[in-house]
Amino acid sequence: MRQVYVNGDYLPETEARISVFDRGFLFADGVYEVTLVLDRKLVDFAGHMRRLRHSLGELDMAFALTNEKLLDIHRELIRRNDIEEGLVYLQVTRGAADRDFLFPADATPRTVVVFTQKKSLVDSPLAERGLHVITVEDLRWRRCDIKTVQLLYPSMAKMEAKSRGADDAWMVRDGFVTEGSSNNAYMVTLEGTVVTRDLSTDILRGITREAVLQCAQDLQLRIEERPFTVEEVENAAEAFSTSSSGLVSPVVRINERVVGKGTPGPMAARLRQLYLERSRASAI
Ligand code: PMP
Repeated sequence: MRQVYVNGDYLPETEARISVFDRGFLFADGVYEVTLVLDRKLVDFAGHMRRLRHSLGELDMAFALTNEKLLDIHRELIRRNDIEEGLVYLQVTRGAADRDFLFPADATPRTVVVFTQKKSLVDSPLAERGLHVITVEDLRWRRCDIKTVQLLYPSMAKMEAKSRGADDAWMVRDGFVTEGSSNNAYMVTLEGTVVTRDLSTDILRGITREAVLQCAQDLQLRIEERPFTVEEVENAAEAFSTSSSGLVSPVVRINERVVGKGTPGPMAARLRQLYLERSRASAI
């Protein structure tokens, strides 16, 4: 049975417990990270820790565990659960306190939960076929730079996609694409420029985004970090998304419009390939 980590203990998943008063449960008062595992090693762990500290800091959540300790926990779970390829999920909440909108004043112990998911991510039939995405209005709160566990709207967006026979949903605010339901969104112009929305509180600073933009730069591709419209991407040469679980995933259809040739584009394929090579080489 899968072993999980909860507040200092490694336990079988059926024995792990958290309080009914946990603020993560009652208020979505918690943050998380999902790190890719390739060849039993963690991809860009340092980047995930940087973003975790940003999320915790923005929510005034002091947190005692060091990155070294968190790395030990991640590695221990990879070992115990025999994860060759997959994901490690880490969640930190403000902890348990009697229900009150105000944050508890004392140094409440945090709740820390870590678990693994064994998954084949590199060999992906979906990435080979290319994704069909729909667009939905971005109704999320305006602090999307904080990776909170408040994921109901993205979840609804994915359900809407599924009910329409699509694979994912891209969020749109004021006519411009912000990001995917759980990934960053890109298009490639007919001139070959890679375009993705600039960083702000409107999107999550994807760890994969950073790595893939570096790959694009090293391939000497032109890059523009700016908002783009649904119409622009519908008429683009290619589109794709990036995330720790989807790596680089080509998008071949947006709503009813075919993007490019309707098959995964060469730029997305090159970026996926280079991203994978580099991730395997730098994983720890
Ligand atoms: N945007 C959102 C809204 C996400 O949920 C995710 C995945 N956590 C991403 C972007 C991609 O981030 P990363 O590359 O760090 O997985």
